[in-house]
Amino acid sequence: MSNEKIPYKIYLEENELPKQWYNVRADMKKKPAPLVNPGTGKPCTAEELSHVFCDELVKQELDETTPYIDIPQEIQDFYRMFRPSPLVRAYFLEKKLGTPAKIYYKFEGNNTSGSHKLNSAIAQAYYAKKQGLKGVTTETGAGQWGTALSMACAYFGLDCNVYMVKVSYEQKPFRREVMRTYGANVTPSPSTTTEIGRKILEEFPGTNGSLGCAISEAVEAATSKEGYRYVLGSVLAQVLLHQSIIGLESKAAMDKYGIKPDIIIGCAGGGSNLGGLISPFMGEKLRGEADYRIIAVEPASCPSFTRGTYAYDFCDTGKVCPLQKMYTLGSGFMPSPNHAGGLRYHGMSAILSELYDQGLMEATSVEQTAVFEAAEMFARVEGILPAPESSHAIRTAIDEALKCKEIGEEKTILFGLTGTGYFDMYAYGAYNDGKMSDYIPTDEEIAKSLANLPKIEG
Ligand SMILES: *Cc1c(COP(=O)(O)O)cnc(C)c1O
Repeated sequence: MSNEKIPYKIYLEENELPKQWYNVRADMKKKPAPLVNPGTGKPCTAEELSHVFCDELVKQELDETTPYIDIPQEIQDFYRMFRPSPLVRAYFLEKKLGTPAKIYYKFEGNNTSGSHKLNSAIAQAYYAKKQGLKGVTTETGAGQWGTALSMACAYFGLDCNVYMVKVSYEQKPFRREVMRTYGANVTPSPSTTTEIGRKILEEFPGTNGSLGCAISEAVEAATSKEGYRYVLGSVLAQVLLHQSIIGLESKAAMDKYGIKPDIIIGCAGGGSNLGGLISPFMGEKLRGEADYRIIAVEPASCPSFTRGTYAYDFCDTGKVCPLQKMYTLGSGFMPSPNHAGGLRYHGMSAILSELYDQGLMEATSVEQTAVFEAAEMFARVEGILPAPESSHAIRTAIDEALKCKEIGEEKTILFGLTGTGYFDMYAYGAYNDGKMSDYIPTDEEIAKSLANLPKIEG
């Protein structure tokens, strides 16, 4: 097939949709560190986790050895509403850059939630329903996860309670209304509906809220009500498992045309899209079958990988969640109000943290204005208006393609285009008005936040 011209879009057939997720931990010799109970200082047991998460998801979370896990038929059926997603050859971008590099992107924005998050939302809602629960609670920052979860809950008839970071609740009324249209209850966080919310409001009156704080509220709401569990849109191993569909489809599409990526790039907030995109490629790398350069891209304003520390930390501000060993800026870290809400989490997936620590992947950070320059160029030549989060990956893909041009190398680049940016028009407006700022935290600010890490060996 290699002489055939590669089409602009490679679509798999519906019957080529993967029927199993891939669990990259099965191929890791050194596994990610276990979640730890902050009360006992010992690894969390399934029993402890089952108070917070659905039973089947606890099983997936703790499963480090099963490489392939069947995707239940009902989830496969739902996936068919928006999957397989296209793998696009960025011919127009290549031409614009005048690069000999071949650029591909996997586009995950073609559903109402506008991002890859629906891949895991539908799985988590399915297991909650199967367990006979009444509903789920969660947090949302910019709103993509809350939107995806509300769609999934509507499909299965589950009650959906979303704690939305207050500043987003106020600045993104449209996301809020999409969630309400799908039947979700949306509460601005911090709120007076939880103990932790009331405590935070008392301590910091007028606060804008944060993801860490909304997580604490959602967990409290789930654990204090009969028939509810908490679900999370990123960071956890189960979420990376569900997102492996992105990488499995990408690899199947590339294999069909004999394409092998040299460089794989993804933006990293909690690490779920990147973890999903790279999973089958990383599997090959771990088994010594192939080699790839893998690059995580994060905002310079929230640089967990590039300037954080690999240590046990709290996953939330209220310190109610299990501790996780990860690259972190400290659970009290308040990133400056940059425009990529999905990349403002203080920590990172434990799986990606371990892979990064073992030198199996790289990380880089990019500044906001440069990200929007890349977004603008991409929108104009490729036609898709990218989410600010996704545009971090675009920025680095463009930079790598330009390096290829400089040294005359024909590298093949694959990046994850995680979503569309229609709900981010304030951000585009700030960019168009030349009012975008590039705040980068000082070493002192990061050190101050890291001084509060919990004292756990690991
Ligand atoms: C949430 C989100 C991200 C970041 O989350 P990850 O878990 O790191 O993938 C990236 N892009 C979009 C469009 C998102 O909604």
